[in-house]
Amino acid sequence: MLVSQFQAVGRDLCARGLVSSHSGNLSIKLGERLFITHRNSMLGCLAEQDLVETGVNKNDRSTPLASTELAVHRSIYQHTCASAIVHAHPAYAVTLSFSEREIVPCDVEGNLLLPKVPVLGWGMTVKPGELAVEIADALNEYKAVLVRGHGSFAAGQLLEEAYHYTTTLEESCRLLYLLKTLGISLR
Ligand SMILES: [Zn+2]
Repeated sequence: MLVSQFQAVGRDLCARGLVSSHSGNLSIKLGERLFITHRNSMLGCLAEQDLVETGVNKNDRSTPLASTELAVHRSIYQHTCASAIVHAHPAYAVTLSFSEREIVPCDVEGNLLLPKVPVLGWGMTVKPGELAVEIADALNEYKAVLVRGHGSFAAGQLLEEAYHYTTTLEESCRLLYLLKTLGISLR
């Protein structure tokens, strides 16, 4: 049953173009254990063997097989009460991350669900697995964060919840981008 939750969200992220063929990663926490997508797995067609089980705090034989963002996922679980994480590369959100320090959705649904989404990683090149503490700290206050020029991290109690934040963020960023393109000021 666990794998079907990963498959549903992974397939949809891929179908919506929120990840490329081999990017993005998903995880859930169950007690002291963490289930995360395999390094370089294809979210659009996840199989049972694409899920890696390892510790939230401790390494084991499976740890090297986990996504390259494992350190970020672990840090989020260690510092927040989240039980599920979605990391994606939503194009409009990443585009705006180059120019904005925070995203404030202007549409009704986006604004209700995500009043503000901070953009982290200004002035540096962030490699996978880096900024783990900063991302976790921000997710204590916000439901989703963006890493500049990279992608989004959203956390919730269920994968579907974190996925909802991810799609809402991208929808709001698409609208913000279109409004900017039309020269419509929101102030
Ligand atoms: Zn990424």
